[in-house]
Amino acid sequence: MNINKSEKLFEEAKKYIPGGVNSPVRAFKSVGGTPRFISKGIGSKMFDVDGNELIDYIGSWGPHLFGHNPQFIKDALIKAIENGTSFGAPTEIEIKMAKLITELVPSVEVVRMVNSGTEATMSAVRAARGYTGKDKIIKFEGCYHGHGDFFLIKAGSGALTFGVPTSPGVTKGNAADTLVADFNDINSIKKLVAQNKNEIAAIIIEAVVGNMGTVRADNLFIQELRTICDEEKIVLIFDEVMTGFRLAQGGAQEILGVKPDLSTFGKIIGGGLPVGAYGGKKEIMEMISPSGPVYQAGTLSGNPLAMNAGYASLTYIKDHPEVYKTLEEKSAYLENGIKDGIKSVGKNFQFNRVGSMMTFFFTEEPVVDYNSAVKSDTKLYGKYFHEMLNSGVYLPPAQFEAMFVSTAHTKEDLDKTIVANYNALKSIL
Ligand SMILES: *Cc1c(COP(=O)(O)O)cnc(C)c1O
Repeated sequence: MNINKSEKLFEEAKKYIPGGVNSPVRAFKSVGGTPRFISKGIGSKMFDVDGNELIDYIGSWGPHLFGHNPQFIKDALIKAIENGTSFGAPTEIEIKMAKLITELVPSVEVVRMVNSGTEATMSAVRAARGYTGKDKIIKFEGCYHGHGDFFLIKAGSGALTFGVPTSPGVTKGNAADTLVADFNDINSIKKLVAQNKNEIAAIIIEAVVGNMGTVRADNLFIQELRTICDEEKIVLIFDEVMTGFRLAQGGAQEILGVKPDLSTFGKIIGGGLPVGAYGGKKEIMEMISPSGPVYQAGTLSGNPLAMNAGYASLTYIKDHPEVYKTLEEKSAYLENGIKDGIKSVGKNFQFNRVGSMMTFFFTEEPVVDYNSAVKSDTKLYGKYFHEMLNSGVYLPPAQFEAMFVSTAHTKEDLDKTIVANYNALKSIL
């Protein structure tokens, strides 16, 4: 595969942009090699600047439920741009958008639009702290909630009950207010809650995780989490930035049957434009300014282009509930084909899937939490990734990420991927 132009652009980009990219995972650091510079996306395909055609399973890291540049979103954007790009004053589309979200996600009574998933999770935690008057939060090892300071925390070693920063620039003060629990382990929550009685404002979780690779919360675990939050007056936040509108109209909370107090959204909600949102119980959301004292604002929040793209996506989802059946069928077909390939090479590598979110883990033990996920052979994943890329299949350039099937993926795409998977495994093992 010729990648001369991508190579040249990457060298040029590195002169002016940190690491050559505007978000780190794009740089292929964990798999090695040169990232492809993309010139165009149509349906299930992306085309790089050297003219290579790639079957895309990243979908811009989640937003493209319908593949690249679907006609109905393009139409909505073209129509919106005729009237201007931003007003900094209320518009009617913001009401339509908020109302539609509350219809699709019943736990959301009131919702505030922001510009990214990171903004949504940071603001949701602030709302929870303002509402409860408490400072500490609990997150789970391996869950990602954007790059807010108090989320860039991992579990401290041994006797430490508080977390430690995962990035320079995050203060010890931030780390002291973030406690880290083990995913799918209710005892780790019970312990932290007991040790920090009446100090926990919120527990935030990806109820179906995408950011350590795909891992589903056990039903019992998530029910017990709900009960503990009720008993201890802790705000339960589901971070549905990835899972919202991807797993079902009502996201992970619909498939798990548990209602959080607050939810955060991003990715699909913007139809490919930069959007985030947080919402939930009216009583909590009414704390947000200007109706309450908790400050949160945004110059471009509720931007008309972003709202029209997002509204078109969510309207499509509402009018076509069968998209989830289609996604399930396509994803199950791909899963079966990939698993057959794994069996054919005599391995028991794990393939986790929930709806159209899935991860191939290069470990033979079940992956149920962070500790089991990191048993994966990331070097082998890197080799696999490059074999697949050379066959025209664009997977996440890191082991601990989810890949996505869109409604635009055809049977031909899936079959090509299944063949590429078998060939890749044969060649790397
Ligand atoms: C992507 C993601 C975020 C961060 O969203 P950005 O728009 O990148 O800031 C937060 N939480 C989850 C679960 C995500 O997948």
